[in-house]
Amino acid sequence: MTKPDVRLEVPDAVADIARRLEEHGYETWAVGGAIRDALLGSARADWDLATAARPETVRKLFRPSYPIGIQFGTIGVRGTDDYVYEVTTFRRDIETDGRHAVVEYAEALEDDLARRDFTVNAIAYHPLRHEVRDPHDGIADLDRRLLRCVGDPALRFAEDYLRVLRGLRFAGRYELEIEDSTWQALLAAVPNLARLSGERVREELLKVLAAPAASPSLDLYRGSGAIDALFVELAGLDAEAWGSLLGSIDRVAAGRPELRLTLLFDSAGAETETMMARTRFSNAETRTVLGLARALAEPLPEPADAVAARRWLRDVGPERAEDALLLHGVRSEARDAETEDARLAEQARAVREAMERGDPVTIGDLAVDGNDLKELGLQPGPDLGRVLEACLDAVIADPALNQRKALLEYARSLHDEG
Ligand code: ATP
Ligand code: MG
Repeated sequence: MTKPDVRLEVPDAVADIARRLEEHGYETWAVGGAIRDALLGSARADWDLATAARPETVRKLFRPSYPIGIQFGTIGVRGTDDYVYEVTTFRRDIETDGRHAVVEYAEALEDDLARRDFTVNAIAYHPLRHEVRDPHDGIADLDRRLLRCVGDPALRFAEDYLRVLRGLRFAGRYELEIEDSTWQALLAAVPNLARLSGERVREELLKVLAAPAASPSLDLYRGSGAIDALFVELAGLDAEAWGSLLGSIDRVAAGRPELRLTLLFDSAGAETETMMARTRFSNAETRTVLGLARALAEPLPEPADAVAARRWLRDVGPERAEDALLLHGVRSEARDAETEDARLAEQARAVREAMERGDPVTIGDLAVDGNDLKELGLQPGPDLGRVLEACLDAVIADPALNQRKALLEYARSLHDEG
């Protein structure tokens, strides 16, 4: 079906890549998210191209080019704007098992569009002729705000259960209603989500959390049973707790996935590490989120209590303090308790004042260091660490003590006692 009335703003670099391929006789179209989003009125940079040229041909025609996903036929081509565009050879699925697909190269665009998941993702646009190829009526679905599988929904989900999560993400992100037969098939496929690899679930979850508002998609995760299937730890939250969890997540900027993740996983209590391990987050990511969760568990100090503010900073870690205050803040706002908000603002002010004064809150802030203590005759090791901690305790209680002479005396007295 040709729809000549649609005309999109194609980046010059994309048109250049398509032109070169077409000049060599290879049909080339723009497909996927960039077309969908452009039709919805939001431009984005990552235009993906689908071409009849085989990967080795693409590599020969464009230098430099990069084998981004060579096993899927995807080559990265640097455009004249320096952006790397993904150019993928037309493909057709020949075998699928719900987790992986065996694909072969195809000659025709139509084959390639038929293996795509949803009609709104299966619209092709010719970057030079400004022609639309939309055999699955994705444009009509976009107009009606409808999410619909390409082909038989039950088959399509069974081919790749990740499509269940992708569907929930797209429906939430673009406020699409899920068409009835797609929704029924999706619900039937949900129990199979547990078969997906942790890595793919993680990548999907991070995409959900990267949307300006994550709550519509997360709410669909819950409404469809995907939460129960993937994160049973979160299944026990009642409607009110879930509602305020979503409110808190949306209040955090989309550019801070680790903060949004902390709110989500921490809402189950002490299960954060289990969920992160299951979804194959790296050790570093897990440490970050666990640190933030610990900070969130640390009640904020009384507003007038500077000593408590310093203790809080020591326990949370000054480098995490702003994030922790932010998390406390959005959590309280989402609970819609105004008195709590006001109190929290006071508590946060006390903490920030301590930071601005440069109050000592870590060993590194002390006016003495390990070498000074060694000169007093202390052996490096646990004892020395304990004396430094004791110095920090003393200085937190009274920052005026944070002077070399006073601290050395104090350390000596501890040493003589011990
Ligand atoms: P976004 O990048 O905003 O997540 P997108 O539509 O670009 O959205 P990608 O994951 O980048 O999504 O995939 C590009 C295109 O590839 C999709 O639009 C879709 O046509 C197709 N696609 C991706 N993953 C699948 C899948 N699991 N099954 C079928 N088609 C898929
Ligand atoms: Mg994309």
